[in-house]
Amino acid sequence: MKLKILEVLSQITSPGLKGDIVSQKLVSDIIIKDGRVIFSITAPEGLGKEMAYVRDQAEQRIAKLDGVERVLIALTAEAAPAAPKTIPRLKKRNQERPVGPDMRPKAGAIPGIKSVVAVASGKGGVGKSTAAVNLALALHGLGLKVGLLDADIYGPSLPRLMDLKDRPAIENDRIIPLEKHGIKLMSMGLLMEEDNPVIWRGPMIVSALMQMVREVEWGQLDILVLDMPPGTGDAQLTMAQQVPLAGAVIVSTPQDLALIDARKGLKMFTSVDVPIMGIIENMSYFLCPKCGETSHIFGHGGAEREARKLNVPFLGAIPLHMDIRHYSDEGTPIVVAKPESEHAKIFKSIALKVATKLNPDTEEEE
Ligand code: ADP
Repeated sequence: MKLKILEVLSQITSPGLKGDIVSQKLVSDIIIKDGRVIFSITAPEGLGKEMAYVRDQAEQRIAKLDGVERVLIALTAEAAPAAPKTIPRLKKRNQERPVGPDMRPKAGAIPGIKSVVAVASGKGGVGKSTAAVNLALALHGLGLKVGLLDADIYGPSLPRLMDLKDRPAIENDRIIPLEKHGIKLMSMGLLMEEDNPVIWRGPMIVSALMQMVREVEWGQLDILVLDMPPGTGDAQLTMAQQVPLAGAVIVSTPQDLALIDARKGLKMFTSVDVPIMGIIENMSYFLCPKCGETSHIFGHGGAEREARKLNVPFLGAIPLHMDIRHYSDEGTPIVVAKPESEHAKIFKSIALKVATKLNPDTEEEE
């Protein structure tokens, strides 16, 4: 099947390219799962429009192949030369680096979980949890088995965002995660008393989080999305180091201040050798719900420019929109509440980029 797809793709070219998209190395690894074909095409700088046409052509031609039910192709902007095209596999990384930079043993892979992806931000209030929840749901929409762990012990928001009321059961000393909209969910907020705020000390935070990663009965997962506590303190650094992360997604608003914080977040992950999967710009522009007009109230594009400067991929821009907030507050994130909306589509395209970078399907082939 892969060969047939490559054959089709190697017949597609575009003005501005020196050859077909396969020989020009613009096609990522191809994931094939249950009739779904998922991959990304890189658009060289300045060829965005032409490559959108190429993507449509590729989608139409692959859809005609036998055994193909759905084709999902993400168009990604050209990654800077230093950025890795695919994220190194967990197992390999761990074999190569048995100890972390501070000489403590590096975390081993978690049985049953193929990849853990951290969603992080340099500071609170930028929409990290909103992005994590919608990203997890959009990844599930691609046919992947997904878990979401809200590790934000300072302000766990998952119970509110997904309207969770039950407490998780405990069986054989293992916590059974809740399940909603097809994904497995766990949050410290589900274990804490609402009116009884817990005061956490650093080591307690880390051990509680490690317990949630390792002692929750996640079962078989393609991806565990980890909603990190905001900021870049010791607890975050230790988590970044002790959880076997396949990569990190950084959420930032376009304001400069947030970008400075975001840069700190990037540094934290790279200092412990975790690849950056990309930056999401949230509250990027204001989309007027009445007139549909777009206003760049915070100076839109800051995160994209910054991503380019820092040689990390830009994953997408999410507008500031009442619907996103409204559905979050109601406990049904927008990807589920309004799957056909523009906002949901943006989250889906980000999920596609993350999935193609992880390529969970090829894990077992080696
Ligand atoms: P964080 O996890 O970074 O602290 P949250 O995801 O909890 O941030 O978001 C903070 C607040 O902003 C929430 O009320 C959320 O509904 C709202 N919000 C987040 N993203 C958007 C958006 N794109 N448009 C409108 N409101 C948003």
